[in-house]
Amino acid sequence: MATIIPLTDARIPDAAEQRARHDAFVRAAASEATAAPGPLVDARGRPLHDLRISVTDRCNFRCVYCMPKDVFDSDYRFLPHGDLLTFEEIARVAKLFVDRGVAKIRLTGGEPLLRRNVERLVEMLARLGDIDLTLTTNGALLAKKAAGLRDAGLTRVTVSLDSLDDATFRAMNDVDFPVAKVLDGIDAAAAAGLAPLKVNMVVKRGMNERSILPMARHFRGTGHILRFIEFMDVGATNGWRMDDVVPAAEIVRTIDAEMPLVAVDPNYAGEVAERWRYRDGGSEVGVIASVTQAFCRTCTRARLSTDGKVYTCLFATDGFDLRGLLREGRSDAAIGNAVAAVWSGRADRYSEVRTANTPRVPKVEMSYIGG
Ligand code: SAM
Repeated sequence: MATIIPLTDARIPDAAEQRARHDAFVRAAASEATAAPGPLVDARGRPLHDLRISVTDRCNFRCVYCMPKDVFDSDYRFLPHGDLLTFEEIARVAKLFVDRGVAKIRLTGGEPLLRRNVERLVEMLARLGDIDLTLTTNGALLAKKAAGLRDAGLTRVTVSLDSLDDATFRAMNDVDFPVAKVLDGIDAAAAAGLAPLKVNMVVKRGMNERSILPMARHFRGTGHILRFIEFMDVGATNGWRMDDVVPAAEIVRTIDAEMPLVAVDPNYAGEVAERWRYRDGGSEVGVIASVTQAFCRTCTRARLSTDGKVYTCLFATDGFDLRGLLREGRSDAAIGNAVAAVWSGRADRYSEVRTANTPRVPKVEMSYIGG
């Protein structure tokens, strides 16, 4: 029987009603007298620091825990091209966020390297100033694109890789993609200077926990930072159960038993990964315990969906539409006001209040909102 986290969830809203409320909210904020840009803090005192931008809702993988094939099949209705924010629109919104405190931008998706000419977007974002500009990818197209991305101004890259065992990896990406090609992509990114390179491994019980130690052994000493992510209840299609989560503490114990670890301080307040280094030197590893040790209290991330909605939580049911304002020709000041109002009013803390019935809440899919 599934284990349950026994807390109450007070947020199961009616989706259409919430959408209408959010629309009215951004429109009212956009019409207010202009507030000067500057760093923002939300209703729980959390600063705005990171912006994740989903540049496409499509992916060339069908990872079983993210975009399962039986849902994301040939009948699935991905966003039509006209619904996507253009690069100019994305860069304009990103600038408004940077003016209000964002210092780190991550491109994601879907698979961001599938968006045609994504290098041009990277170039536009790199011009926004002194920001950490990075991208999360499944690595399939990275060998081909790493050097161009670096030339365009990308600073770092995170590659998702769930196993070094070819059969396990092919089963998890569910499109029979070989692990060797992702490793080629990682090498190409390192050679292009996209460093420090991070490797993310989602751990799902019964699927790839036996890959934890081989992954740790492989990346130790490479300079790449390996991070283990607990399988999360994002979206509504991945059949999440608490029993499938391998707790971060168990992952740390498994590695520590063979390769002793020492805890390392976070790089900055709000860093999602808990950091560890090997006692005898070598590179570090991290664990992202989004389920067993919720970090809502320090969450500083906003998300911009492929079609231009701002989400203030990965587990939200709906976002705040900025595309409407952009396409109506509203000024930067008006849209900036909307951004400020959304962040100032943010009170989400989903992971701290998740319950047994939350998997049934109509949350948006990670491929659309951006992982
Ligand atoms: N396609 C890109 C990639 O594979 O990295 C970017 C998008 S993907 C949604 C971003 C990250 O989210 C990946 O590392 C993926 O493994 C992770 N992810 C997706 N679904 C997840 C889930 N249910 N729990 C934990 N991590 C998940």
